[in-house]
Amino acid sequence: MTIRTRFAPSPTGPLHLGHAYSALFAADLAREAGGTFLLRSEDIDQSRARPEWEAQMYNDLTWLGLTWPEPVMRQSERLQAYREALAQLWALGVLYPCTCTRRDIKEAAAAPQEGAPLIGPDGVIYPGTCRMKPRPPDMPKDEVLRLDMAQAMQRIGPDVAFHEDGLGPDGEHGRIVVTADHLTHRVGDVVLARRDMGTSYHLSVVVDDAAQGITHVVRGADLFEATAIHVVLQCLLGLPTPVYHHHRLIRDDDGKRLAKRDDARAIALYRREGATPRDIRRMVGLI
Ligand code: GLU
Repeated sequence: MTIRTRFAPSPTGPLHLGHAYSALFAADLAREAGGTFLLRSEDIDQSRARPEWEAQMYNDLTWLGLTWPEPVMRQSERLQAYREALAQLWALGVLYPCTCTRRDIKEAAAAPQEGAPLIGPDGVIYPGTCRMKPRPPDMPKDEVLRLDMAQAMQRIGPDVAFHEDGLGPDGEHGRIVVTADHLTHRVGDVVLARRDMGTSYHLSVVVDDAAQGITHVVRGADLFEATAIHVVLQCLLGLPTPVYHHHRLIRDDDGKRLAKRDDARAIALYRREGATPRDIRRMVGLI
């Protein structure tokens, strides 16, 4: 099998050391196996994505010594593909429109009979208010669409599985099995289409990894829980499940995970201070 890996950042801020680690890791993995490393711009959130961040992203990655086939896949140009995937899911009866506001969800999840609100990979687990409502015959266009996880797992079976080549947050490795019970109660009905963008992170990442023929997904261990959602979607859409390689997170001096706002760790800043690409590799532990 020819290995295909990818790095898929969102151009919503400067790339930092954590991104450098993930990108170099994915590129090294492909190179060592004689495979291909691809880049994808995850710019579906047009209220936050900026052309200048995208330009800086290419510039930093080139400086780090990475190359990738052009043109780069940009999610903002793939809305039709996401629509088609949603239509497929709608036809399976595993989607429903949701009109709840963030506040409605918080209040419903905090109702005394519910106990302490459970937190899933996307925050408070959706209490299911809109799941019971009659579904319209046609898929609505400008509404939030959620995955009916219980229904989805009824179609798929008692569990989903993927191969972990790296390490999950609790040291998970090898064949990872996620049960329908966990998915239904600890993950819940995640959003697959947001009102303002007609898709969501989970849906686009699954559709695009398949479209790019990705065989190995390299990503931070913070996305381990999200990966199970992606495997569910692959099963429903009839797409292959890649091998997943979750990696450790690069943390700041206080042990906190780096975020886009951590400009202090921006690759661009280290560059301005005279660091070399080799220095960056050393800083993230790749030398
Ligand atoms: N675009 C996402 C990010 O920057 C993640 C990509 C992935 O799914 O691995 O965190």
